[in-house]
Amino acid sequence: MPAPLSAVAEEASTCTRCALAAGRTTVVFGMGDPTSDLMFVGEGPGAEEDKQGLPFVGRSGKLLDQLVWEEMGLTRDRTYIANVVKCRPPNNRDPLPEEIAACRPYLEAQLDLIEPKVVVTLGKFAGQLLLESREAITRLRGRSYPFASGVLVPTVHPAYVLRGGAEPMAQMRADLVRAKQALAAAGSPLATAGAAS
Ligand code: URA
Repeated sequence: MPAPLSAVAEEASTCTRCALAAGRTTVVFGMGDPTSDLMFVGEGPGAEEDKQGLPFVGRSGKLLDQLVWEEMGLTRDRTYIANVVKCRPPNNRDPLPEEIAACRPYLEAQLDLIEPKVVVTLGKFAGQLLLESREAITRLRGRSYPFASGVLVPTVHPAYVLRGGAEPMAQMRADLVRAKQALAAAGSPLATAGAAS
């Protein structure tokens, strides 16, 4: 029998598979509903996430919460949120290929155990990793892709939206609508969230 998600989280909490272990305060494994049909995958923890041990709790996370609510009618507790790397890269630098590779089994285990019908990747690192592509995120986004037993919807990173103004914001909103349509196509009850209000 595969280890439950809590056992994988427990293992990750003391991980020393890469150099990021030395600089972290807390391993940020993931949060949310481990049975959700919808999983978000970001890049890696920032300062606030490293402090709190939770993903997307800083400015990017607040924007993510807002847009997911406005476009999908969902709060984060109905989804599952994780990152490509579970430990904060120093000074918020990009994760290195060897760090991504070392952390990949944790993300794979999360995907295998949660079995989301829809995966939304946030930014270049998650999109390129899960689609096994080197294409720029601006070219990858705008459509959905078959992924495991469901679909993957790549979108831009909320930090990019915070920096980038109207166009990235419109792109992310459109991608979240696309994710909601994918949930509906998969028969997920999450697709009807917010519809009655
Ligand atoms: N950016 C990410 O990619 N992940 C987080 O958890 C926070 C900010």
